[in-house]
Amino acid sequence: MNTQEKYTGSCFCGAVQFSVSTHPVLMAYCHCESCRHWSASPVNAFTLWQPDTLKITQGEEQISRYAKSPGSIRAWCRSCGGHLFIEHPQMGVIDLPAAIIPDLNFTPSVHVHYQETVLPMIDGLPKMKDLPSDAGGSGEQIPE
Ligand SMILES: [Zn+2]
Ligand SMILES: [Zn+2]
Repeated sequence: MNTQEKYTGSCFCGAVQFSVSTHPVLMAYCHCESCRHWSASPVNAFTLWQPDTLKITQGEEQISRYAKSPGSIRAWCRSCGGHLFIEHPQMGVIDLPAAIIPDLNFTPSVHVHYQETVLPMIDGLPKMKDLPSDAGGSGEQIPE
């Protein structure tokens, strides 16, 4: 259970500190090529939050952003390269890697973009071919 209302985290070097409050809108795994390439990892364990729940408490000036597409603005620390968050303005959420919120009990509910997986995970959770229909996807599930 996530009983805490506020979580803190930082980039890899600690120059950027942040807090997020309340509870994630969604916790899940993404298997898409964009996540894979940017995170340099086969799967991205991510958490979505209401954007105004994220507060940068230190090191705002160290944050750089890059938008390969307008729907995903990726932010990281200029000093260490540590990933911080991805803004998804069209979806109205902000996306933080679960791994940089150490006190958050990561309890994923779904896998998204599973058609692109390079690391199949047999865990009984639903496997969305791309995205749920309410997030602009096909809503189709594929078998494990
Ligand atoms: Zn840093
Ligand atoms: Zn992805």
